[in-house]
Amino acid sequence: MNNNPHNICTWKDPAFCNGCSLQHKLACKWDKKILLGFHGISWPPTLTAAIGMAIVGTMTSVWWPIYAYVIYFLLMFGFIEIKFLCSHCPYYAEEGKVLHCLANHGSPKIWSYNPRPLNRFEKFMMYFLIATVFFVFPLSVFGYGIFYLILNYADHGLIALLGLIGIMLSNLISSASFAGTLKTFYCSQCVNFSCPLNTVPKPAVDTYLRKNRIMREAWEKSGYQLDPMSAGSNDSIAKVLVNN
Ligand code: SF4
Ligand code: SF4
Repeated sequence: MNNNPHNICTWKDPAFCNGCSLQHKLACKWDKKILLGFHGISWPPTLTAAIGMAIVGTMTSVWWPIYAYVIYFLLMFGFIEIKFLCSHCPYYAEEGKVLHCLANHGSPKIWSYNPRPLNRFEKFMMYFLIATVFFVFPLSVFGYGIFYLILNYADHGLIALLGLIGIMLSNLISSASFAGTLKTFYCSQCVNFSCPLNTVPKPAVDTYLRKNRIMREAWEKSGYQLDPMSAGSNDSIAKVLVNN
């Protein structure tokens, strides 16, 4: 209980999970393999964006978009996303000043744990974050670089233009692949159920809430209603999860 002031089952001894219908069906326990998988899908779009922006900065001598992107990226993932998304996550409920979870592992915890579900503004921020960090910002800089190369074609030539287009396409494909893989394989098991990308079926959400009183009370206070039919129906929950 020392590191688990809110008595969240995710942070309880694994023995508590014996017999739970959600065991091995939700990503409800910290798992190094899941964290490494997340890094595997998130680094390619980040690296291709960084490389492409550095090339555009070197060619054009315009560096402020790169600086702005780096500051925006660090602020978003280090502080702002932690507030509107992670502070509602069961992983965040652990005691301590450093986040231990399956994605933003290692981020500072300067906000308090908030067991209620995300509100509308926080859900909007989730879409805004993904759209700006992975698509709008990098594609704008790539577009500027390509426009610059077309205007200065005589100085830089076809190879530079095709090279930058190639990096932009690899960035676009890896960003789309990141979003698709996240949605398909991570969001279907994630325990931050009120994230707008989350697709865990309601019976499983209700079962988890029934195991975690502080979350259940906060969710019900926000207007959420547990389905009385899902109480105790472990087999049907397991089936729903397997089919999803
Ligand atoms: S939902 Fe809670 S009790 Fe059930 S397996 Fe996950 S961590 Fe364990
Ligand atoms: S929402 Fe995702 S990134 Fe945030 S604490 Fe939970 S598992 Fe980690």
